[in-house]
Amino acid sequence: MNQLYSISEILSDYKIIEALNHGKRLMLWDMETIMPMAGIEERSEVLSNLETYQKKLYMNLNEKLDRLHDENIDNDFSKAVVRILKKQIHYYSSIPDEIHREFIKVTTISEDIWKIARKRNNFKMFEPYLEKIVDLERKIADYLGYEKHPYDALIDIFEEGFTVDDGDKIFNYIKMESKGLVERAIERGYGKNSGLNYERYRKEWLINIFRELQNKFDISDKRFRIDESVHPFTINISPDDVRITTRFEGIDFKKSLFATIHEMGHAIYLLNINREFGCTPLYSSASYGFDESQSRFFENFIGKSREFTEFIYPVLKKNIPLMKKYDSDDIYYYFNSVGRTPVRIDADELTYNIHIAIRYEIEKNLMENKYEVKELPEIWNSMMENYLGIKPRNFKEGILQDIHWSQGSFGYFPTYTLGNIIAAIIKYKIAEMDKHIRNGNFIPIIRFLNEKIHIYGSLYEPKELLKKSFNESYNPEYLIKYFNEKYI
Ligand code: MG
Repeated sequence: MNQLYSISEILSDYKIIEALNHGKRLMLWDMETIMPMAGIEERSEVLSNLETYQKKLYMNLNEKLDRLHDENIDNDFSKAVVRILKKQIHYYSSIPDEIHREFIKVTTISEDIWKIARKRNNFKMFEPYLEKIVDLERKIADYLGYEKHPYDALIDIFEEGFTVDDGDKIFNYIKMESKGLVERAIERGYGKNSGLNYERYRKEWLINIFRELQNKFDISDKRFRIDESVHPFTINISPDDVRITTRFEGIDFKKSLFATIHEMGHAIYLLNINREFGCTPLYSSASYGFDESQSRFFENFIGKSREFTEFIYPVLKKNIPLMKKYDSDDIYYYFNSVGRTPVRIDADELTYNIHIAIRYEIEKNLMENKYEVKELPEIWNSMMENYLGIKPRNFKEGILQDIHWSQGSFGYFPTYTLGNIIAAIIKYKIAEMDKHIRNGNFIPIIRFLNEKIHIYGSLYEPKELLKKSFNESYNPEYLIKYFNEKYI
Protein backbone atom coordinates (compact mmCIF):
# COMPACT_ATOMS: atom_id res chain seq x y z
CA MET A 1 0.00 0.00 0.00
CA ASN A 2 1.18 3.50 -0.81
CA GLN A 3 2.16 5.62 2.16
CA LEU A 4 -0.10 8.61 2.86
CA TYR A 5 1.10 11.97 4.13
CA SER A 6 -0.28 14.69 6.39
CA ILE A 7 -0.20 18.47 5.99
CA SER A 8 2.13 18.74 8.97
CA GLU A 9 4.64 16.47 7.23
CA ILE A 10 4.41 18.69 4.16
CA LEU A 11 4.95 21.80 6.29
CA SER A 12 7.88 20.24 8.04
CA ASP A 13 9.55 19.65 4.65
CA TYR A 14 8.63 23.17 3.61
CA LYS A 15 10.70 24.58 6.47
CA ILE A 16 13.86 23.85 4.48
CA ILE A 17 12.46 25.70 1.44
CA GLU A 18 11.62 28.61 3.72
CA ALA A 19 15.10 28.53 5.26
CA LEU A 20 16.51 28.95 1.75
CA ASN A 21 14.02 31.76 1.06
CA HIS A 22 15.12 33.47 4.25
CA GLY A 23 18.73 33.29 3.12
CA LYS A 24 17.91 34.43 -0.42
CA ARG A 25 15.96 37.44 0.79
CA LEU A 26 18.76 38.49 3.11
CA MET A 27 21.21 38.17 0.20
CA LEU A 28 18.95 40.27 -2.04
CA TRP A 29 18.62 42.94 0.63
CA ASP A 30 22.40 42.95 1.07
CA MET A 31 22.95 43.22 -2.70
CA GLU A 32 20.79 46.32 -2.95
CA THR A 33 22.09 48.07 0.15
CA ILE A 34 25.63 47.41 1.41
CA MET A 35 27.32 44.68 -0.62
CA PRO A 36 30.65 45.74 -2.19
CA MET A 37 30.13 45.99 -5.95
CA ALA A 38 32.53 43.22 -6.91
CA GLY A 39 30.51 40.72 -4.87
CA ILE A 40 27.83 40.58 -7.54
CA GLU A 41 29.25 37.81 -9.71
CA GLU A 42 29.62 35.17 -6.99
CA ARG A 43 26.33 36.28 -5.41
CA SER A 44 24.40 35.76 -8.65
CA GLU A 45 25.91 32.30 -8.98
CA VAL A 46 25.00 31.40 -5.38
CA LEU A 47 21.43 32.62 -5.85
CA SER A 48 20.94 30.62 -9.01
CA ASN A 49 22.33 27.48 -7.33
CA LEU A 50 19.95 27.95 -4.42
CA GLU A 51 17.10 28.29 -6.90
CA THR A 52 18.06 24.99 -8.54
CA TYR A 53 18.19 23.28 -5.16
CA GLN A 54 14.82 24.74 -4.16
CA LYS A 55 13.26 23.45 -7.35
CA LYS A 56 14.37 19.92 -6.38
CA LEU A 57 12.82 20.32 -2.94
CA TYR A 58 9.53 21.45 -4.49
CA MET A 59 9.49 18.48 -6.84
CA ASN A 60 10.06 16.14 -3.90
CA LEU A 61 7.15 17.77 -2.12
CA ASN A 62 4.99 17.19 -5.16
CA GLU A 63 5.08 13.43 -4.70
CA LYS A 64 3.90 13.80 -1.13
CA LEU A 65 1.20 16.30 -2.10
CA ASP A 66 -0.24 13.74 -4.46
CA ARG A 67 -0.56 11.30 -1.60
CA LEU A 68 -2.26 13.35 1.11
CA HIS A 69 -4.76 11.98 3.62
CA ASP A 70 -8.14 13.20 2.44
CA GLU A 71 -9.23 14.34 5.88
CA ASN A 72 -6.28 16.73 5.91
CA ILE A 73 -7.48 19.00 3.19
CA ASP A 74 -10.97 19.93 4.27
CA ASN A 75 -10.11 23.24 5.91
CA ASP A 76 -9.08 26.64 4.47
CA PHE A 77 -5.56 26.52 5.82
CA SER A 78 -4.67 23.12 4.34
CA LYS A 79 -6.38 23.93 1.07
CA ALA A 80 -4.28 27.07 0.81
CA VAL A 81 -1.06 25.19 1.56
CA VAL A 82 -1.83 22.74 -1.24
CA ARG A 83 -2.97 25.48 -3.63
CA ILE A 84 0.14 27.63 -3.18
CA LEU A 85 2.63 24.77 -3.33
CA LYS A 86 0.91 23.27 -6.36
CA LYS A 87 1.06 26.59 -8.16
CA GLN A 88 4.82 26.86 -7.67
CA ILE A 89 5.29 23.22 -8.62
CA HIS A 90 3.18 23.70 -11.72
CA TYR A 91 5.49 26.55 -12.75
CA TYR A 92 8.60 24.45 -12.25
CA SER A 93 7.26 21.27 -13.78
CA SER A 94 5.61 22.70 -16.88
CA ILE A 95 8.51 24.82 -18.09
CA PRO A 96 11.36 22.68 -19.46
CA ASP A 97 14.74 23.18 -17.82
CA GLU A 98 16.40 24.49 -20.98
CA ILE A 99 13.70 27.15 -21.43
CA HIS A 100 13.97 28.19 -17.79
CA ARG A 101 17.76 28.41 -18.04
CA GLU A 102 17.58 30.37 -21.28
CA PHE A 103 15.06 32.76 -19.75
CA ILE A 104 17.35 33.43 -16.76
CA LYS A 105 20.35 33.89 -19.06
CA VAL A 106 18.62 36.23 -21.52
CA THR A 107 16.99 38.39 -18.85
CA THR A 108 20.24 38.72 -16.90
CA ILE A 109 22.06 40.03 -19.98
CA SER A 110 19.20 42.08 -21.31
CA GLU A 111 18.81 44.03 -18.09
CA ASP A 112 22.38 45.30 -18.55
CA ILE A 113 21.79 45.97 -22.24
CA TRP A 114 18.58 47.84 -21.42
CA LYS A 115 20.49 50.10 -19.02
CA ILE A 116 23.02 51.02 -21.72
CA ALA A 117 20.40 51.30 -24.49
CA ARG A 118 18.35 53.63 -22.31
CA LYS A 119 21.34 55.79 -21.50
CA ARG A 120 22.21 56.01 -25.20
CA ASN A 121 18.59 56.44 -26.26
CA ASN A 122 19.03 53.53 -28.66
CA PHE A 123 16.07 51.14 -29.12
CA LYS A 124 17.75 49.14 -31.91
CA MET A 125 20.33 47.99 -29.40
CA PHE A 126 17.68 46.54 -27.07
CA GLU A 127 15.40 45.23 -29.83
CA PRO A 128 16.96 41.76 -30.43
CA TYR A 129 16.93 41.04 -26.69
CA LEU A 130 13.33 42.12 -26.34
CA GLU A 131 12.46 39.92 -29.31
CA LYS A 132 14.08 36.96 -27.59
CA ILE A 133 12.26 37.72 -24.33
CA VAL A 134 8.86 38.08 -26.02
CA ASP A 135 9.46 34.79 -27.80
CA LEU A 136 10.32 33.08 -24.50
CA GLU A 137 7.33 34.64 -22.73
CA ARG A 138 5.04 33.25 -25.42
CA LYS A 139 6.56 29.80 -25.01
CA ILE A 140 6.27 30.03 -21.23
CA ALA A 141 2.60 30.99 -21.54
CA ASP A 142 2.02 27.91 -23.70
CA TYR A 143 3.85 25.64 -21.28
CA LEU A 144 1.95 27.03 -18.29
CA GLY A 145 -1.33 26.66 -20.13
CA TYR A 146 -4.42 28.87 -20.25
CA GLU A 147 -8.07 28.64 -21.08
CA LYS A 148 -8.69 31.69 -23.22
CA HIS A 149 -5.71 33.96 -23.70
CA PRO A 150 -1.95 33.30 -23.53
CA TYR A 151 -1.47 36.51 -21.53
CA ASP A 152 -3.72 35.02 -18.80
CA ALA A 153 -1.00 32.50 -18.00
CA LEU A 154 1.55 35.26 -17.42
CA ILE A 155 -0.71 37.57 -15.40
CA ASP A 156 -1.63 34.61 -13.19
CA ILE A 157 1.99 34.41 -12.00
CA PHE A 158 1.49 37.77 -10.26
CA GLU A 159 -2.27 37.98 -9.75
CA GLU A 160 -3.80 34.55 -9.30
CA GLY A 161 -7.04 34.17 -11.23
CA PHE A 162 -6.94 37.54 -12.99
CA THR A 163 -7.56 37.36 -16.74
CA VAL A 164 -7.64 39.39 -19.94
CA ASP A 165 -11.45 39.38 -19.70
CA ASP A 166 -11.14 41.23 -16.36
CA GLY A 167 -8.35 43.47 -17.63
CA ASP A 168 -10.12 44.58 -20.81
CA LYS A 169 -13.19 45.68 -18.86
CA ILE A 170 -11.15 47.54 -16.26
CA PHE A 171 -8.81 49.36 -18.60
CA ASN A 172 -11.54 50.32 -21.08
CA TYR A 173 -13.58 51.76 -18.24
CA ILE A 174 -10.64 53.67 -16.77
CA LYS A 175 -9.57 55.03 -20.16
CA MET A 176 -13.06 56.27 -20.86
CA GLU A 177 -13.74 57.77 -17.45
CA SER A 178 -10.35 59.48 -17.30
CA LYS A 179 -10.98 61.64 -20.34
CA GLY A 180 -10.76 65.32 -19.50
CA LEU A 181 -9.99 64.70 -15.81
CA VAL A 182 -6.56 66.31 -15.95
CA GLU A 183 -7.82 69.48 -17.64
CA ARG A 184 -10.57 69.87 -15.09
CA ALA A 185 -8.20 69.23 -12.20
CA ILE A 186 -5.84 71.88 -13.56
CA GLU A 187 -8.74 74.34 -13.74
CA ARG A 188 -9.33 73.60 -10.06
CA GLY A 189 -5.77 74.64 -9.18
CA TYR A 190 -3.97 71.30 -9.32
CA GLY A 191 -1.55 72.40 -12.03
CA LYS A 192 0.53 74.78 -9.89
CA ASN A 193 4.29 74.51 -10.04
CA SER A 194 5.31 74.73 -6.39
CA GLY A 195 8.51 76.42 -5.27
CA LEU A 196 9.00 73.38 -3.03
CA ASN A 197 9.94 71.33 -6.11
CA TYR A 198 13.23 73.23 -6.08
CA GLU A 199 13.93 73.46 -2.35
CA ARG A 200 16.96 71.54 -1.08
CA TYR A 201 16.78 69.59 2.15
CA ARG A 202 19.04 67.79 4.57
CA LYS A 203 18.68 64.05 5.02
CA GLU A 204 18.49 64.35 8.83
CA TRP A 205 15.33 66.46 8.57
CA LEU A 206 13.51 63.68 6.74
CA ILE A 207 14.88 60.94 8.98
CA ASN A 208 13.22 62.68 11.96
CA ILE A 209 9.94 62.88 10.06
CA PHE A 210 10.14 59.19 9.10
CA ARG A 211 10.68 58.30 12.75
CA GLU A 212 7.58 60.23 13.73
CA LEU A 213 5.52 58.52 11.00
CA GLN A 214 6.84 55.12 12.05
CA ASN A 215 5.54 55.78 15.58
CA LYS A 216 2.21 57.03 14.28
CA PHE A 217 1.87 53.92 12.11
CA ASP A 218 2.68 51.76 15.13
CA ILE A 219 5.68 50.09 13.51
CA SER A 220 8.03 48.75 16.19
CA ASP A 221 11.78 49.29 15.87
CA LYS A 222 12.25 45.76 17.15
CA ARG A 223 10.84 44.28 13.93
CA PHE A 224 11.66 46.91 11.32
CA ARG A 225 14.46 48.99 9.85
CA ILE A 226 15.06 51.56 7.13
CA ASP A 227 18.16 51.67 4.93
CA GLU A 228 19.07 53.36 1.67
CA SER A 229 19.13 51.97 -1.87
CA VAL A 230 18.90 53.29 -5.43
CA HIS A 231 15.37 51.91 -5.89
CA PRO A 232 13.30 51.84 -2.70
CA PHE A 233 11.83 48.43 -1.82
CA THR A 234 10.39 46.34 1.02
CA ILE A 235 11.54 42.87 1.97
CA ASN A 236 10.32 40.49 4.64
CA ILE A 237 13.30 38.50 5.82
CA SER A 238 10.98 36.86 8.39
CA PRO A 239 7.74 37.78 10.25
CA ASP A 240 9.71 39.76 12.84
CA ASP A 241 12.28 41.25 10.49
CA VAL A 242 10.74 43.45 7.80
CA ARG A 243 12.94 46.03 6.11
CA ILE A 244 12.36 48.92 3.80
CA THR A 245 14.75 51.16 1.91
CA THR A 246 14.41 54.72 0.76
CA ARG A 247 16.52 57.31 -0.98
CA PHE A 248 17.43 60.96 -0.54
CA GLU A 249 17.82 63.12 -3.64
CA GLY A 250 18.58 66.23 -1.57
CA ILE A 251 16.00 68.30 -3.45
CA ASP A 252 12.18 68.16 -3.66
CA PHE A 253 11.53 66.28 -0.40
CA LYS A 254 8.12 64.85 -1.37
CA LYS A 255 9.86 62.22 -3.52
CA SER A 256 11.67 60.72 -0.57
CA LEU A 257 8.72 61.25 1.78
CA PHE A 258 6.24 59.40 -0.45
CA ALA A 259 8.68 56.67 -1.41
CA THR A 260 9.08 56.00 2.32
CA ILE A 261 5.35 56.12 3.10
CA HIS A 262 4.77 53.76 0.14
CA GLU A 263 7.26 51.22 1.47
CA MET A 264 5.89 51.59 5.02
CA GLY A 265 2.50 50.57 3.61
CA HIS A 266 4.06 47.37 2.25
CA ALA A 267 5.81 46.77 5.58
CA ILE A 268 2.65 47.24 7.66
CA TYR A 269 1.04 44.46 5.58
CA LEU A 270 3.91 42.03 6.03
CA LEU A 271 4.27 42.77 9.75
CA ASN A 272 0.62 41.94 10.40
CA ILE A 273 0.07 38.63 8.64
CA ASN A 274 -1.21 35.95 11.01
CA ARG A 275 1.86 35.00 13.06
CA GLU A 276 0.88 31.33 12.84
CA PHE A 277 1.51 31.44 9.09
CA GLY A 278 5.23 32.07 9.71
CA CYS A 279 7.43 29.43 8.04
CA THR A 280 4.50 28.27 5.87
CA PRO A 281 3.67 29.09 2.23
CA LEU A 282 0.86 31.35 3.52
CA TYR A 283 3.25 33.90 4.95
CA SER A 284 2.98 36.36 2.07
CA SER A 285 0.56 38.93 0.72
CA ALA A 286 -2.54 37.73 -1.16
CA SER A 287 -1.19 38.90 -4.53
CA TYR A 288 0.96 41.61 -6.11
CA GLY A 289 -2.17 43.72 -6.55
CA PHE A 290 -3.06 43.39 -2.86
CA ASP A 291 0.51 44.12 -1.87
CA GLU A 292 0.54 47.25 -3.99
CA SER A 293 -2.88 48.27 -2.66
CA GLN A 294 -1.40 48.72 0.80
CA SER A 295 1.56 50.84 -0.31
CA ARG A 296 -0.62 53.00 -2.54
CA PHE A 297 -3.29 53.32 0.10
CA PHE A 298 -0.73 54.86 2.45
CA GLU A 299 1.07 56.85 -0.23
CA ASN A 300 -1.92 58.31 -2.08
CA PHE A 301 -5.20 57.79 -0.29
CA ILE A 302 -3.78 58.73 3.10
CA GLY A 303 -0.58 60.63 2.27
CA LYS A 304 -1.95 62.90 -0.43
CA SER A 305 -5.23 63.74 1.26
CA ARG A 306 -6.15 67.20 2.61
CA GLU A 307 -6.42 65.72 6.07
CA PHE A 308 -2.93 64.26 5.98
CA THR A 309 -1.53 67.61 4.91
CA GLU A 310 -3.21 69.16 7.96
CA PHE A 311 -1.78 66.47 10.20
CA ILE A 312 1.76 66.56 8.80
CA TYR A 313 2.17 70.30 8.34
CA PRO A 314 3.22 70.93 11.98
CA VAL A 315 5.56 67.91 11.78
CA LEU A 316 7.17 69.34 8.65
CA LYS A 317 7.46 72.80 10.23
CA LYS A 318 9.16 71.36 13.28
CA ASN A 319 11.77 69.50 11.21
CA ILE A 320 12.26 71.49 8.01
CA PRO A 321 13.35 75.11 8.68
CA LEU A 322 12.38 76.46 5.24
CA MET A 323 8.80 75.28 5.75
CA LYS A 324 7.99 78.60 7.46
CA LYS A 325 7.65 80.15 3.99
CA TYR A 326 4.79 77.81 3.09
CA ASP A 327 1.35 77.09 4.50
CA SER A 328 -0.63 73.88 4.64
CA ASP A 329 -2.45 74.71 1.40
CA ASP A 330 0.90 75.10 -0.42
CA ILE A 331 1.89 71.68 0.86
CA TYR A 332 -1.35 70.11 -0.38
CA TYR A 333 -0.84 71.38 -3.94
CA TYR A 334 2.87 70.53 -3.80
CA PHE A 335 1.92 66.93 -2.93
CA ASN A 336 -0.82 66.81 -5.57
CA SER A 337 0.53 68.48 -8.65
CA VAL A 338 -1.25 67.23 -11.78
CA GLY A 339 -0.01 67.30 -15.37
CA ARG A 340 0.78 65.12 -18.30
CA THR A 341 4.16 63.44 -18.33
CA PRO A 342 5.43 60.74 -20.67
CA VAL A 343 7.14 58.97 -17.74
CA ARG A 344 5.11 56.54 -15.65
CA ILE A 345 6.97 56.96 -12.38
CA ASP A 346 6.50 60.74 -12.52
CA ALA A 347 2.79 60.45 -13.31
CA ASP A 348 0.07 61.81 -11.02
CA GLU A 349 -2.80 59.68 -9.69
CA LEU A 350 -5.12 60.70 -12.55
CA THR A 351 -2.90 59.60 -15.42
CA TYR A 352 -0.94 56.78 -13.78
CA ASN A 353 -3.40 54.06 -14.80
CA ILE A 354 -3.38 55.24 -18.42
CA HIS A 355 0.35 54.52 -18.49
CA ILE A 356 -0.46 51.03 -17.24
CA ALA A 357 -3.30 50.60 -19.77
CA ILE A 358 -0.80 51.21 -22.58
CA ARG A 359 1.62 48.59 -21.27
CA TYR A 360 -1.24 46.14 -20.71
CA GLU A 361 -2.46 46.53 -24.27
CA ILE A 362 1.02 46.12 -25.72
CA GLU A 363 1.81 43.02 -23.68
CA LYS A 364 -1.54 41.48 -24.53
CA ASN A 365 -1.13 42.09 -28.26
CA LEU A 366 2.44 40.80 -28.24
CA MET A 367 1.19 37.57 -26.72
CA GLU A 368 -1.43 37.33 -29.47
CA ASN A 369 1.28 37.85 -32.10
CA LYS A 370 -0.56 40.96 -33.23
CA TYR A 371 2.43 43.24 -32.73
CA GLU A 372 6.05 42.78 -33.64
CA VAL A 373 8.80 44.06 -31.40
CA LYS A 374 10.28 46.26 -34.12
CA GLU A 375 6.98 48.17 -34.43
CA LEU A 376 6.77 48.89 -30.71
CA PRO A 377 8.33 52.38 -30.58
CA GLU A 378 5.78 53.62 -33.08
CA ILE A 379 2.89 51.83 -31.39
CA TRP A 380 3.99 53.20 -28.03
CA ASN A 381 4.15 56.76 -29.26
CA SER A 382 0.81 56.66 -31.02
CA MET A 383 -0.87 55.22 -27.90
CA MET A 384 0.70 57.96 -25.78
CA GLU A 385 -0.73 60.51 -28.17
CA ASN A 386 -4.15 58.89 -28.33
CA TYR A 387 -4.63 58.21 -24.64
CA LEU A 388 -2.56 60.92 -23.00
CA GLY A 389 -2.19 63.60 -25.63
CA ILE A 390 1.60 63.71 -25.42
CA LYS A 391 4.39 62.42 -27.57
CA PRO A 392 7.61 61.19 -25.93
CA ARG A 393 10.60 63.16 -27.20
CA ASN A 394 12.88 60.14 -27.25
CA PHE A 395 13.11 56.42 -26.40
CA LYS A 396 14.35 57.21 -22.93
CA GLU A 397 11.07 58.81 -21.95
CA GLY A 398 9.15 56.45 -24.22
CA ILE A 399 9.50 52.74 -24.80
CA LEU A 400 12.82 52.38 -22.95
CA GLN A 401 11.69 53.94 -19.66
CA ASP A 402 10.80 50.79 -17.68
CA ILE A 403 13.07 48.00 -16.50
CA HIS A 404 10.25 45.37 -16.39
CA TRP A 405 10.45 43.96 -19.91
CA SER A 406 14.21 43.58 -19.72
CA GLN A 407 13.67 41.42 -16.63
CA GLY A 408 11.03 39.32 -18.35
CA SER A 409 8.23 40.49 -16.05
CA PHE A 410 5.37 40.31 -18.54
CA GLY A 411 2.06 40.34 -16.68
CA TYR A 412 3.37 42.45 -13.81
CA PHE A 413 2.23 45.94 -14.90
CA PRO A 414 -1.54 45.39 -14.47
CA THR A 415 -1.00 44.75 -10.74
CA TYR A 416 -0.10 48.42 -10.21
CA THR A 417 -3.57 49.45 -11.34
CA LEU A 418 -5.18 46.62 -9.38
CA GLY A 419 -3.40 48.05 -6.34
CA ASN A 420 -5.02 51.43 -7.00
CA ILE A 421 -8.42 49.83 -7.51
CA ILE A 422 -8.25 47.85 -4.27
CA ALA A 423 -6.94 50.88 -2.36
CA ALA A 424 -9.93 52.93 -3.58
CA ILE A 425 -12.34 50.18 -2.48
CA ILE A 426 -10.77 50.26 0.98
CA LYS A 427 -11.09 54.04 1.20
CA TYR A 428 -14.84 53.82 0.81
CA LYS A 429 -15.19 51.00 3.33
CA ILE A 430 -13.42 52.60 6.28
CA ALA A 431 -15.61 54.60 8.64
CA GLU A 432 -14.50 58.14 9.50
CA MET A 433 -11.21 57.83 7.69
CA ASP A 434 -10.85 61.59 7.13
CA LYS A 435 -11.34 62.36 10.80
CA HIS A 436 -8.77 59.78 11.90
CA ILE A 437 -6.17 61.09 9.44
CA ARG A 438 -6.73 64.71 10.46
CA ASN A 439 -6.16 63.71 14.09
CA GLY A 440 -3.07 61.73 13.19
CA ASN A 441 -4.82 58.69 14.62
CA PHE A 442 -3.88 55.93 12.19
CA ILE A 443 -4.53 53.03 14.53
CA PRO A 444 -8.23 52.48 13.66
CA ILE A 445 -7.32 52.54 9.96
CA ILE A 446 -4.49 50.07 10.37
CA ARG A 447 -6.67 47.85 12.56
CA PHE A 448 -9.28 47.76 9.77
CA LEU A 449 -6.61 46.77 7.23
CA ASN A 450 -5.31 44.12 9.63
CA GLU A 451 -8.73 42.55 10.01
CA LYS A 452 -9.79 42.73 6.38
CA ILE A 453 -6.54 41.98 4.58
CA HIS A 454 -3.25 41.57 6.46
CA ILE A 455 -4.19 38.79 8.81
CA TYR A 456 -5.10 36.43 5.96
CA GLY A 457 -1.70 36.36 4.26
CA SER A 458 -2.27 34.27 1.16
CA LEU A 459 -4.98 32.09 2.72
CA TYR A 460 -7.39 33.11 -0.07
CA GLU A 461 -6.98 33.88 -3.74
CA PRO A 462 -7.19 37.62 -4.36
CA LYS A 463 -10.67 37.51 -5.94
CA GLU A 464 -11.92 35.43 -3.03
CA LEU A 465 -10.45 37.84 -0.48
CA LEU A 466 -12.02 40.84 -2.22
CA LYS A 467 -15.37 39.10 -2.07
CA LYS A 468 -15.00 37.92 1.49
CA SER A 469 -13.71 41.17 3.00
CA PHE A 470 -15.43 43.82 0.88
CA ASN A 471 -18.12 41.94 -1.05
CA GLU A 472 -16.48 43.32 -4.19
CA SER A 473 -14.62 42.35 -7.33
CA TYR A 474 -11.79 44.39 -8.91
CA ASN A 475 -14.34 47.15 -9.35
CA PRO A 476 -12.75 50.32 -10.80
CA GLU A 477 -15.78 52.53 -10.05
CA TYR A 478 -14.47 53.43 -6.59
CA LEU A 479 -11.24 54.70 -8.09
CA ILE A 480 -13.03 56.95 -10.58
CA LYS A 481 -15.39 58.15 -7.84
CA TYR A 482 -12.34 59.06 -5.74
CA PHE A 483 -10.75 61.00 -8.63
CA ASN A 484 -13.95 62.94 -9.21
CA GLU A 485 -14.47 63.74 -5.53
CA LYS A 486 -10.89 64.80 -4.97
CA TYR A 487 -9.99 66.69 -8.12
CA ILE A 488 -13.20 67.92 -9.70
MG1 MG B 1 5.41 48.98 -4.29
